Amino acid sequence: MKHRGWEVVERVRAGEMLVFDGGYGTMLFAAGLLNGACPELWNDTHADVVREIHRGYFEAGSAIVETNTFGGSRLKLNEYQLGERTRELNERGARLVRSVAPAGGYVAGSIGPTSRLPAEYEPLGDTTDEEYVETFREQAEALAEGGVDLFAVETMMFPQEAFAAIRACKQVADLPVMATMFFQYEELHDRDRTMWGESPAKVAKNLREAGADVVGMNCGRGPDRAIVIIREMRAATETPLVAYPNAGLPITTGDRVTYELGPEQMARDYPALLDAGASIVGACCGSGPEHIRKIAEVVRARRK
Ligand SMILES: [Zn+2]
Repeated sequence: MKHRGWEVVERVRAGEMLVFDGGYGTMLFAAGLLNGACPELWNDTHADVVREIHRGYFEAGSAIVETNTFGGSRLKLNEYQLGERTRELNERGARLVRSVAPAGGYVAGSIGPTSRLPAEYEPLGDTTDEEYVETFREQAEALAEGGVDLFAVETMMFPQEAFAAIRACKQVADLPVMATMFFQYEELHDRDRTMWGESPAKVAKNLREAGADVVGMNCGRGPDRAIVIIREMRAATETPLVAYPNAGLPITTGDRVTYELGPEQMARDYPALLDAGASIVGACCGSGPEHIRKIAEVVRARRK
């Protein structure tokens, strides 16, 4: 029997629009996470805080909520001397979302970059495709064990790392994979490119070929660029598209970081984002449940 997670792909293929969740960093910092501390450790030490953030997103209208495991690969956790706890922290992360998911809600296992550069990226790169696959397999296995319905390979900067993560997910479980990359807006050329210099059209095709079931963008700038990126992806592929941009650009005042766009302001761009071809929409850095509430209103208005 097919896993229930496949409903997500079936529903968007049938034309439905689904709401993803918002950011985690801002809320974890507000709850006391210190700069330089490991966010995934909170799946153990501050499980209640993490669980309430997940619950807040489901209540705000998210159909899909992701785990607090963005930096949960062993290669990344090693930076905090927590590599040995990789399995446990990911499994806990999955169970935390599962424990508050309503009957119709889906849990996405978040898999972000390792911060290690691919070997081809000279002279700093040192990580081979095999090493990437190995570290992501371990993480994906633990997330599947914890009960996720799908995987969210996200904020990827390099194609090598993104492909390895997708491959790893597909090796460990028969679950859908959403894969999104981070785009920078190049003002000089008025275009959006990954760190590797790839266009949205190329990224969409490549992620699909690598095995992703839903492709798209997250993080980066605000919804204004997301609209352009999704439009370009839509022209290049029939694959369902997902977009969860940041709430605009960060504004630093002293040691406080805020983001340009409030909930209302951010949601104003979402009708155009849906028109551009996104089937799953949410938000990333600088957003919270109120942003998702407004975005969910836009999506609901579309259903009528
Ligand atoms: Zn972000």
